[in-house]
Amino acid sequence: MEKSRGYSLLRNPGKNKGAAFSMEERREFGLEGLLPDSVETIETQMMRVHKQLNNFEKPINKYIYLMNLYDTNETLFFRAVASKPSVYLPLVYTPTVGEACQAFGHIARRPRGLYISINQKDRIKEILRNWFTTDVRFAVVTDGQRILGLGDLGVFGIGIPIGKLALYTSCAGVPPKHTLPIVLDVGTNNEDFLKDPLYPGIKQKRVTGKEYDDFIEAFVDAINEVFPKICIQWEDFAGVNAIRILDQYRYKISTFNDDIQGTAAIATAGFIAISRLMKKKFREQRFLFLGAGAAAFGIANMLVQKFKKDGLSEEEALGQIWMFDVNGLLVKSRTDLAGHQKAFAHESEACDDFAEAVLRIKPTAILGVSTVGGAFNQQVIENMSLVNDQPIIFPYSNPTSHSECTAEDAYKWSKGKAIFASGSPFASVTYEGKTFTPGQGNNVFIFPAMGLAIFATQAKRITDEMLIVAAEAVAEQISDEDFQKGLIYPHVDNIAQVSLNVAEKIAEEIFNSGLADVDRPEDIRAFIKSKMYEPDYK
Ligand code: NAD
Repeated sequence: MEKSRGYSLLRNPGKNKGAAFSMEERREFGLEGLLPDSVETIETQMMRVHKQLNNFEKPINKYIYLMNLYDTNETLFFRAVASKPSVYLPLVYTPTVGEACQAFGHIARRPRGLYISINQKDRIKEILRNWFTTDVRFAVVTDGQRILGLGDLGVFGIGIPIGKLALYTSCAGVPPKHTLPIVLDVGTNNEDFLKDPLYPGIKQKRVTGKEYDDFIEAFVDAINEVFPKICIQWEDFAGVNAIRILDQYRYKISTFNDDIQGTAAIATAGFIAISRLMKKKFREQRFLFLGAGAAAFGIANMLVQKFKKDGLSEEEALGQIWMFDVNGLLVKSRTDLAGHQKAFAHESEACDDFAEAVLRIKPTAILGVSTVGGAFNQQVIENMSLVNDQPIIFPYSNPTSHSECTAEDAYKWSKGKAIFASGSPFASVTYEGKTFTPGQGNNVFIFPAMGLAIFATQAKRITDEMLIVAAEAVAEQISDEDFQKGLIYPHVDNIAQVSLNVAEKIAEEIFNSGLADVDRPEDIRAFIKSKMYEPDYK
């Protein structure tokens, strides 16, 4: 293929260096006169990025600026994001990406990724071949139905795969040229969008049932044929579809669902870290969930796997996990339980008061995945403190308004004894002179590392075991000193190092289980590092 030169080189985001092209390169590639005279370093360019970013007050405007940078100079974009993840990740991904998706039709710039509609079901291979490279290894795919906590955003959901893949690259070095964001357009039930002339997706209600499943199947077949080394990461599908699609394909192709498995792994990582730091065995933990839906199911299943790995039988493992939903405690006598809930129902008396269930079951940890803000009330936290020296309180519902309790309430009502982590971020809390830093179960410690390990080893399947290894590896990154400050997860600014450590462990597991499609190298860490993208001008 002819090398891009001159004007078109400056408009090629993967190759463009802007004013960092050297004098020799400018002569060689016909760039003289197209750039001002002085040659800049990437550090100087970074100074400009930081400065320009600070000119914007609203996060959404910072997002637009950064996406523009992504479209013009990919290296500089990734260098900037990796330079200070705690500042850039919330702009490139949650929470700003949610707002960006809602307004996508109104702020869209250059299109990125692939839009495949159900009307194109018979031409999916052709469409995939329109992508600029034939060696795609990693696709993040959504159908836009349950974007973050924002509901059905139809094709505007494309912002999620774009942002998520940017994190795969900036947090773990998955090479961007091998990644592909995709939105599957099956319509939308968002009435506002159906009326909006600026909504660019199919203007019809969502297709469901067999027609939907057939479309997903056609997509899965096509993408595996066109890109044989592909791993599909499903993102922000509605709960029932998410579980069904994952169950259908996880044993046939390389695939995982971050909402279900990544969330489960990061929650499990928190419990492993806590157990180690409390000098307790993980198998001594007993969990009581508030909420028995998709998120609870994903987390509980991973906890069962971890218990089994640590020597419990399936029955013993299930015995350590209790659930409580809108109709009360899950007990065997209930007749309203869905198939996946029955395994977690116990032989016990019915109970419709969560605080009382705490006293009865004496869990070491309570996990909120109910969407009910404030459900971990004072009585619940006090009862947890009665039955535990250090009660583990995990309100995981998003957004913040749905969190089952705030960090402040958990510390206050437990008299500073709670070990706290949440789905949404909370600021530090000072209680009786001691400052606590609440943990946030952020999947970003799991999925980029998974992506890197899968990419490097060309893993043929993604197993629960790999996710448990990832959880254990994240937990290993917490020191006793972190724990004293209330930290049970690493700091996000250390994400590059954490991702490499975690990816190494996952890759080891992939080789050990015979699921790699490349030869086992002598030095797995060096091998992984050699596959990583570095945001440097070549
Ligand atoms: P879901 O609708 O599948 O499940 C909600 C569960 O909460 C149901 O079992 C319901 O019976 C129960 N519930 C509702 N009201 C209740 C009440 N008053 N008392 C007790 N139980 C009640 O939802 P989900 O997908 O499992 O998500 C739940 C929460 O977890 C959301 O806030 C979401 O942001 C958060 N979360 C979800 C995921 C995910 O992958 N789905 C991941 C991380 C966090």
